Amino acid sequence: MQQTNYDVIIIGAGASGLMCAATAGYRGKRVLLIDHAPKAAAKIRISGGGKCNFTNLDVKPENYICQNPHFVKSALSRYPSSAFIELVERHGLEYEERDLGKLFCKHRASDLIQILRTECDWAGVEFRLYCHIETVSYLDDQGYQLITSDGEIFAEKLVVATGALSFPKLKASDFGYQLAKQFDLNMIETRPGLVPLVFSDKWGARLSDLTGLSLEAKVSCGTFSFQEAVLFTHNGLSGPGILQASNYWQPGEPITISLLPNHKVYEELKKLKKNNQSLQKWLNRFWPKRLTQAWLNWFPIQTQLANLTDETLIDYAEQIQNWVLYPSDTAGYHKAEVTLGGVDTDCISSKTFEAKQQPGLYFIGEALDVTGQLGGYNFQWAWASGVACGQAL
Ligand SMILES: Cc1cc2nc3c(=O)[nH]c(=O)nc-3n(C[C@H](O)[C@H](O)[C@H](O)COP(=O)(O)OP(=O)(O)OC[C@H]3O[C@@H](n4cnc5c(N)ncnc54)[C@H](O)[C@@H]3O)c2cc1C
Repeated sequence: MQQTNYDVIIIGAGASGLMCAATAGYRGKRVLLIDHAPKAAAKIRISGGGKCNFTNLDVKPENYICQNPHFVKSALSRYPSSAFIELVERHGLEYEERDLGKLFCKHRASDLIQILRTECDWAGVEFRLYCHIETVSYLDDQGYQLITSDGEIFAEKLVVATGALSFPKLKASDFGYQLAKQFDLNMIETRPGLVPLVFSDKWGARLSDLTGLSLEAKVSCGTFSFQEAVLFTHNGLSGPGILQASNYWQPGEPITISLLPNHKVYEELKKLKKNNQSLQKWLNRFWPKRLTQAWLNWFPIQTQLANLTDETLIDYAEQIQNWVLYPSDTAGYHKAEVTLGGVDTDCISSKTFEAKQQPGLYFIGEALDVTGQLGGYNFQWAWASGVACGQAL
C-alpha cells in the first residue's frame, strides 16, 4: 500500500470542496481533494435545470436557516456574491440574470465546473476521484490518517465537504455526519428541504387531476411567505413557491396559498356582483381554465354573484386568498434540493470553520446546519464557506 502526505485533505469535490481546495492551494498548501464519485461536482452539473443558479445578487443572512442565525455572517460578508461573479467573469463565463436576482450560466453548468477545475489546477490541487475512504483516525503527532481504496494518506488538516443527504443518486452520503459523530460534534436533526410536498388526504387525488399545471401564487408557512410559481404534481405540489415554503414546514402544520396574490379579491367580487358578471369568466382571466373548473367543483358557489350576501363573498374571497392545505409529508431526500440540519454550528468557528474541540478538523458547505432559500443561496454558502476555510488552512 502506498503512503502519501499532504498539508490538507479535503473530502468531497463538490461546490465547497473545490472552492476550498483552490483557495488553500493558492496559499501554497499541498492539497488533496478526494471524492468517491467518478466525477467532481455532480450537483453543480444538474443544478438549475443544467444551468446552475450559482449565486444571487442580493444575499443576506436572512436567506439562511441555521440554529445560530449569526453563524453565516462572517463568511458571507468576507466572500459576497460579487466576489464569485468577479471570479467567473475573469474566466469569461457567460451568465444571465433571472427573476429575484438569480444568476444562471447562459449555456451549461459544466462551464462553471470547468472554471473551478481550472482554478484547482492552477493552485496545484491533486485529485483522487472514485476513491473510497474506509477509516479516518486522528494521530496527535501526524494529524489525520485516512485508509482509502488508494492506500494510506496523511495530512495535518482534514476538511469535510461531503455535502448532505439530498439526491442520493448523485452519491450524496451521510459520511460527514458520521465523522462529526466520531469526533463528538453535536448534530442538528436533518430533514429534506427545498422539496415538493405530498398529500394523502382527498387533496392528493384532487391535485393530481391538475398535474402539470402551474401558476404564480403566494405560499405561506408560519411567518414566511413566497410569491413564486406553484406546480401541481401527480401527488401534490411543487414549484419554487412550494419548495421555498417546504424549508419552513413541519409535519402536522398547514401551508396557506393565495391563488390571486396581486388582487383585492373581496373588492373585485363585489364589483362582479354589482355588474352581474360571471365569477367563472373572471377567474379564467387569471387562472388556467382547468384550475377554474376544478376550483368551482371543490368550492361550489353560484357563479352569478348577484344573489349572494357580502358575508358569502368575504368567505369566498378568503378561500381564494388563504387556501389552507395540510401536506401529509415531503417527497423525501431523493427529490429534495437540500438538507436542513446537519453539523451543529455551535461546534464550529464561524471564521475558520475548524471544529472548536478537534484541532485540524474543518466542516464546510451543506454538511453544516446551514440551509439557504431557493435562488442561488446554497451555492453562495458553499463558495463563501469554502473560501473562508481555505484562507484559514
Ligand atoms: C437537483 C438539485 C438542484 C440544485 N440547484 C441549486 C441551484 O440552482 N442553486 C443553488 O444555490 N443550490 C442548488 N442546489 C443545492 C446545491 O447543489 C448544494 O447546496 C451544494 O452543492 C452544496 O455544496 P457542498 O460542497 O456542501 O456539497 P456537494 O456539492 O453535494 O458536494 C459533496 C461532495 O462530497 C462527495 N462525497 C459524499 N460522500 C462522500 C464520501 N463518503 N467520500 C468521498 N466523497 C464523498 C460527493 O460525491 C460530492 O461530490 C441544488 C441541489 C440539487 C440536489
